[in-house]
Amino acid sequence: MLQCRELKVWYPIRQGILNRVRGYVRAVDGVSLRLGEGETLGLVGESGCGKTTLGRTLVGLEKPTAGEVLWQGIPLERLPKTKRAAARRNLQMIFQDPFTSLDPRMSAMELVTEGLQLHGLYLPGESRQEAAARLMQEVGLEPETMFRYPHEFSGGQRQRLSIARALALEPKVIVCDEPVSALDVSVQAQVIRLLAQLQRKRGLSYLFISHDLSVVRLLAQRVAVMYLGRVVEQGDAQEVLREPLHPYAQALVSAIPVPGKSNRAQRILLKGELPSPSQPPPGCPFHTRCPRATPRCARECPPLSPRTPSRSVACWLS
Ligand code: SF4
Repeated sequence: MLQCRELKVWYPIRQGILNRVRGYVRAVDGVSLRLGEGETLGLVGESGCGKTTLGRTLVGLEKPTAGEVLWQGIPLERLPKTKRAAARRNLQMIFQDPFTSLDPRMSAMELVTEGLQLHGLYLPGESRQEAAARLMQEVGLEPETMFRYPHEFSGGQRQRLSIARALALEPKVIVCDEPVSALDVSVQAQVIRLLAQLQRKRGLSYLFISHDLSVVRLLAQRVAVMYLGRVVEQGDAQEVLREPLHPYAQALVSAIPVPGKSNRAQRILLKGELPSPSQPPPGCPFHTRCPRATPRCARECPPLSPRTPSRSVACWLS
């Protein structure tokens, strides 16, 4: 349904009086992914690895520097303007912090129906108020609260408002960018349950971005692990989380807490910091922190290659 091929998003670094380009921040550096109908693809990695930029580019909030985004097999840029706009309506996003992503001057009704209002897409005979009530009910909010403003809702309710707002244009794909990481654990579970219910009811596909693999495990059928703008491992979520092959994925999985157990002994601690995406190391981007790095790793970048029919890894040794 949604796909990207060799997608790059590089931001120029400008310096000096002449504002010359001195380099690039390689936020996304050659990513190819596909998201099937009704599927959830978990996108995981440390903060700063390019997950959010990739999500924003897939829904059209950022422009790719190179590569392409395909909707139902056709590159978005090649679609005529009206069809491209229709495809974009199928791609919605919900953000980590609903407090900053919702305009504080707009009421819940205005927020939830803003897209419908802009595109004139109300159901036949439906008023703005009726549309808001329908959408709010669908996400478990009382329609009577539609005249309240974002600050009058709790964090979990605000995230429900964001979900209702994303649902308004009947999308097929929602990019969920850390949708529960700003919420309390008990509220997280409610929002995850709601997302799962909506997926079953509406046949939605999710790109679920998170740094928390225990949350991804609950929703995703497939997972892609990102490091420094690239996907280093992707495949069936249960397989990757049970037996990761890439050393970086192994370190991430070793940090998942196991209820009732201390996993301190098994935890793989990575040395050093995530390198700057403006100066990625040569060769394998992970070699400066990899416990298994060899001299070849510092020279040559491993491609993402299939290891099994359901798994691809970018590592010379895995
Ligand atoms: Fe580590 Fe080398 Fe594999 Fe990169 S290619 S993950 S540095 S072993």
